[in-house]
Amino acid sequence: MVQISAVEKLFTVIDNTATILQDELSCTYLEAVAETGENLFQNTILQEEISELSKKRIQKEYTHVNLGQCSAEEIRKAYQLAALKGMREATQPNHEMTPDAVSIFVGYLVSKFTEGWKGFSIFDPAVGTANLLTTVLNQNQSKEIEAYGIDVDDLLIKVAYISANLQQHSIQFYNQDSLEPLYIEPMDIVVSDLPVGYYPNDIGAASFELHAKEGHSYAHHLFIEQSLKYTTAGGYLFFLVPNHLFTSEFAKELNPFLKEHAVIQGMIQLPLSLFKNEKAAKSIFIIQKKGPEVKAPKQALLANLPKFSNQTAMTGIIKQIDDWFKQEKLEINQ
Ligand code: SAM
Repeated sequence: MVQISAVEKLFTVIDNTATILQDELSCTYLEAVAETGENLFQNTILQEEISELSKKRIQKEYTHVNLGQCSAEEIRKAYQLAALKGMREATQPNHEMTPDAVSIFVGYLVSKFTEGWKGFSIFDPAVGTANLLTTVLNQNQSKEIEAYGIDVDDLLIKVAYISANLQQHSIQFYNQDSLEPLYIEPMDIVVSDLPVGYYPNDIGAASFELHAKEGHSYAHHLFIEQSLKYTTAGGYLFFLVPNHLFTSEFAKELNPFLKEHAVIQGMIQLPLSLFKNEKAAKSIFIIQKKGPEVKAPKQALLANLPKFSNQTAMTGIIKQIDDWFKQEKLEINQ
């Protein structure tokens, strides 16, 4: 007999109930996913305006799951699968959710860079659905973590906070433009899948060192500058950046800026097969904010990731990364 996994079971319940709510509320599927997620969290049906028949159908669906018996990762996966289905309807390329395999890999990198730490504070200034942020939290459960997420899109922030609630993560969310002054203290860690492209607010951009001298500035450059501003000395930043970061227009301003404020720890190129076209391909860019104790690595961690499904090649890369950490620790202690 085929066993239905907890993720499949929960996804089916979210999907079926979101479809009923979408019809009843005449809203988008993604909005309905947030509505049903909130119901599951509050353990009640909050939409009073819907018909008694729909209420009964939804109630029956909810009896098929017991959230208390699901792990945070199972809940994240099921809810994010439904959110992904909703985002396929209408999302712009820059708002796409960070893929699972990439988020898990970033979570692994964060755990390696923070090995031996009791805990840390972390923020994502382009948190979207919080798939990346909550995956990183799930991968670092042994540590005490204070987490923050910011996004300009109010629906995505709603999807994100409901996901965090369901996974029982205490994350503070802010719905604002992250390139305006933030309401957070500097953090130890930043993770972010940066929105790539031009920032339309030239007046706002003018306060950044990395603003374009003429026309619109690159949002992803301003995000790097803003993130460094809100990072503690010695803190680590993990960005998903376009592969063309250092070859595009304005790269010549980015290079000296980074040299002044940070040390480059690594650049890991993601497999091209993950992206619709080569131009959209991304890398994981790891930097550390300068500080009195900070030393640049003898050699930055450079790697090209194979397809995540290629287990033999992935094992090789993980070994290469482990060796790099051992080597760099040795250098620091000498
Ligand atoms: N990591 C996210 C996830 O797992 O869902 C996806 C991030 S997506 C690639 C980039 C995000 O940046 C989008 O959610 C978009 O709304 C947000 N964004 C774009 N410009 C922004 C701005 N100026 N301030 C805050 N968020 C912004």
